[in-house]
Amino acid sequence: MRCVVFFHLPCGMTDGSSAYNSGMKTAKYLRRHRKLIGFLAILLSIAMTAGVCLYALTQTAAGSTRLTIVIDAGHGGIDGGVVGRTTGEKESDINLAISQLLQAEFEEAGFLVVQTRPTQAGLYGSATQGYKKRDMQKRAEIIEASAPAAVISVHQNFFSLSSRRGAQVFFREDNALSHTLACAIQAALNGMPECVRPSDALKGDYYMLNCSDYPSVIVECGFLSNPEDEALLLSENYQRRIAETICEGTLAFLAAASSAEPAMI
Ligand SMILES: [Zn+2]
Repeated sequence: MRCVVFFHLPCGMTDGSSAYNSGMKTAKYLRRHRKLIGFLAILLSIAMTAGVCLYALTQTAAGSTRLTIVIDAGHGGIDGGVVGRTTGEKESDINLAISQLLQAEFEEAGFLVVQTRPTQAGLYGSATQGYKKRDMQKRAEIIEASAPAAVISVHQNFFSLSSRRGAQVFFREDNALSHTLACAIQAALNGMPECVRPSDALKGDYYMLNCSDYPSVIVECGFLSNPEDEALLLSENYQRRIAETICEGTLAFLAAASSAEPAMI
């Protein structure tokens, strides 16, 4: 896991000094204390990581309910979703691979995980008329029955312009927790070294966001219409790291929500 660390550096500048001098002093300070700052960054990173893990473990140790996370691998069965422009790989298969890695991350952190689509099969029963609606309704039923702390729907994007790339997280506009969760996951994804263009979380009017009131997001992990994104999304190493990053963002959300208002989750 990685953590974004913010520093508040002592400046010592009060009045009468120019912004230039202030900047020079700060730069000097940073140079002089580079080793110390690096050490503190590592220390804080460890502390934050331990904090979010501890949060999940104490939930379990308290004997209370282990929090449940619903992971929703988008599409499946005869609905493959979009396909890679270069390789023709199906979105549904990539969604499932990332969802399974995400499950391992959350279980390691002490959560219960429910997958709406644990296999390549769709949830619609027979592939007859109305299959898409039946598939979506089944996912909604699983979410309702799970009473989850968060719902993460995993998808891959596609756009007519092949230059468009990067991960985007969608939230339900009238659900504050959905918004906060989306911002936390998007911030974590923006911090990945492969992120070429940081994005804001985006509002979306989608069934998976609207079908329950639990904090729900759709994570579009990247664009299968972009060759670089497509290559990354097909690599198991990147799939694992993106799963780690989504988990990390979700844990930060849960830890913050828990300390702000325990009854919320
Ligand atoms: Zn999709």
